[in-house]
Amino acid sequence: MQDPIDPVKLDRLAEVAVKVGLNLQPGQDLVLTAPVSALPLVRRITEHAYKAGAGLVTPILSDNEVTLARYRHAHDDSFDASAAWLYDGMAAAYDNGAARLAIAGGDPMLLANEDPDKVGRANKAMSMAYTPARERITRFATNWTIVAWPDADWARLVSPDLDDYAAQRKLADAIFAASRVDDGDAVARWEAHNAELGRRSAWLDGQNFSTLHFTGPGTDLEVGLADGHKWIAGATETAGGILCNPNIPSEEVFTTPHKLRVKGHVSATKPLSHQGTLIENIQVRFEDGRIVEAKATKGEKVLQKVLDTDEGARRLGEVALVPHASPISQSGMLFYNTLFDENAASHIALGQCYATCFHGGDKMENDEVARRGGNASAIHIDWMIGSDQIDVDGISQEGERIAVMRKGAWV
Ligand code: ZN
Ligand code: ZN
Repeated sequence: MQDPIDPVKLDRLAEVAVKVGLNLQPGQDLVLTAPVSALPLVRRITEHAYKAGAGLVTPILSDNEVTLARYRHAHDDSFDASAAWLYDGMAAAYDNGAARLAIAGGDPMLLANEDPDKVGRANKAMSMAYTPARERITRFATNWTIVAWPDADWARLVSPDLDDYAAQRKLADAIFAASRVDDGDAVARWEAHNAELGRRSAWLDGQNFSTLHFTGPGTDLEVGLADGHKWIAGATETAGGILCNPNIPSEEVFTTPHKLRVKGHVSATKPLSHQGTLIENIQVRFEDGRIVEAKATKGEKVLQKVLDTDEGARRLGEVALVPHASPISQSGMLFYNTLFDENAASHIALGQCYATCFHGGDKMENDEVARRGGNASAIHIDWMIGSDQIDVDGISQEGERIAVMRKGAWV
């Protein structure tokens, strides 16, 4: 039988990851994380990286059985610990100029049947220890990207009615299409796509809205935007001037909300798959930028743990606009994976903001980011609030209302 994952397209994805996603520079080291199931893609990427002149490529692999063994057999105290030395090492690597590539695509439901208290504690410990590395990522101290591997367990979850072969083939083809590597010159297609996204972000920047107002079923949310916010889309420039595409795929145009100026209520339009738990039908209410009420019909305990991570976990660090006409949205598939689902719908993120989403943000100290309304937290979790039933208005600095999206489409 044929491989469910087209080897030509897989190689093209690896090439796009290195040339477009990372824009890896000659002599640059690369730190790569992936599930072991993604080894074929790890190998393709490593080859393209060395052909592009990489210094040293260091892969760090994770395994489902190894992860589960911890939840089944590790001592209870150990769930507040994490491999801080590893994350410190990653931060040191970025300081030395290494690029960062993550391959997403493990089983999103891996931890669904484990103790939510342990999952929450382990996630929190990991988030805390990862802070120095994450700060360098969110500040674009180095070039980084995320691409996806069509993992068999993930494919089964996305297409439970198909046999394993058909399910993996369907997921692989969806990943290749969304990543714009399904045919033609993928690198040129990404250039055209980045130009289109650039036009959207330039328009929004020109408007310099004070607030975005989302309305629709179960949603009436005003998201104040940070002072001096900047809209970003597609390619992002690092502090050192390297243009990288941090997400493959990417359809969003996003900026930094003001952490104190968010009010109203909002309902998630898709389930949130968070580190092995599916959180469904999230509904939250904001007062003065802070979540004061949060509900979910499934996974509520994990959601509450997430919100209790730190003070900033109850405030927004990102707001993003994605049209309902995006190719991922049109595929009609629910991926249970933020990299894909966040590019199918407008969304907000709890937690850490991106300093790059400010004019002059690359040179801004943390306290200046905070003064302008940028949020700080050990987490950054996107969840979807857009659909073909959501309208978005921009409110100008003078209080004038301008239609931005109607029924999920750009006006
Ligand atoms: Zn986003
Ligand atoms: Zn985000």
